[in-house]
Amino acid sequence: LVQRLAKRRVAEALAPDDPRDFSSLPGLRDFGLIQAALDSLDLPSPFNIPHDARAGAHSVIAGREVINFSSYDYLGLNADPRVAAAAHVAIDRYGVSASASRTVSGERPVHGALEAALAEHHGAEAALAFVSGHATNVTVIGHLMGPRDVILHDASIHNSCLEGAKLSGARRIAFPHNDWQAAERALADTRRGAERVLLLIEGHYSMDGDVPDLARFIAIARAHDAWLMVDEAHSLGVLGSTGRGIAEAQGIDPREVDIWMGTMSKTLAACGGYVTGRATFIDWLRHTAPGFVYSVGIAPALAAAALEALTILKAEPERVAKLAANGALFLRLLREAGFDTGGSGGHAIVPVITHSSVGAVRLSGALAEAGVNVQPIIFPAVPEQSARLRFFLSAAHTPEDLRTAAACLAHADAAQRRAG
Ligand code: PMP
Repeated sequence: LVQRLAKRRVAEALAPDDPRDFSSLPGLRDFGLIQAALDSLDLPSPFNIPHDARAGAHSVIAGREVINFSSYDYLGLNADPRVAAAAHVAIDRYGVSASASRTVSGERPVHGALEAALAEHHGAEAALAFVSGHATNVTVIGHLMGPRDVILHDASIHNSCLEGAKLSGARRIAFPHNDWQAAERALADTRRGAERVLLLIEGHYSMDGDVPDLARFIAIARAHDAWLMVDEAHSLGVLGSTGRGIAEAQGIDPREVDIWMGTMSKTLAACGGYVTGRATFIDWLRHTAPGFVYSVGIAPALAAAALEALTILKAEPERVAKLAANGALFLRLLREAGFDTGGSGGHAIVPVITHSSVGAVRLSGALAEAGVNVQPIIFPAVPEQSARLRFFLSAAHTPEDLRTAAACLAHADAAQRRAG
């Protein structure tokens, strides 16, 4: 539908062949299609809308307070004065920027303190922090693997892992989402011809809000001499009774996984990425990973904010329990209202699959009018049939917020169906 509606308008919008014109770039064409489709349906673009406040469970958009489901502030720490105070102190002491790569004079004591706390929290020997979560996956995977290797990854793995895999030049094989048996078959098929194999999964999938069977993936990685790497961007502070992630939730010794990856942009209310694992591996990254050696160190204020957020997470596990209760309640409310929530486990991410990009944008627009902010995820980010609204929950949402949002969604959906 999107493509049909937009075809003519896009054809008009694209400039004629000109080798120095950028308008033929494929991503631009996709974006043009979406924009034209939204225009023809008189729908406002749902992207890049500025928030005028600390976006967490609540926010302010265009001067209006909204219940917000579009930020990753899982434990409500983005609005916590202790986190902000830690950042202020670090700015006063060290300035805004690290002003150099950590390898050559960008190192500050707060970097090491953060890494020690991350390693301890994950039960690992060591940790290394990078300037962004995306950059972490790109540089770690891109640097670790090479053209004679194989990377086996879940079909729903995050873009940053795919970009790292592409950079490495390794052979890439996707297995169907969470299907460890298919992963094992692919491993058995490819293992002999490959020098090294990396099995790549997430601990809590960002599109569907579901989790893999970690013990199975550990077993097949062991059986075929592959490294197992788990991206825990959406698990820290979310899974496990003290927010240590999928290993804690599933009763598994974290040392069974070779590489844990996480971000500081979600539960830790800052910005940056990290990996934890054996000291030899972390040391090797510290001295050779291009995204570490040739990139500025994480800003001291962000490292300090993340460290403070981690300290609060450890001291106040009731936040993790509150998020879990919110997730379970919201999932139940949406299921009772008859919405397709896919495979979501109701932890912190609950999709409402609309099976249509236009439907998702319309619902998101109607919810915005009702004071509920939720982002649509539409083609080409997902296949048209998988278009959805994606709700990110926070420990700072009240049960009332969740009931209001579910009621507004049911109302908007009914109105949309009546209008055909
Ligand atoms: N991994 C996953 C699974 C993600 O969802 C994201 C971003 N949401 C990243 C890595 C990148 O993290 P960041 O946004 O902190 O750069």
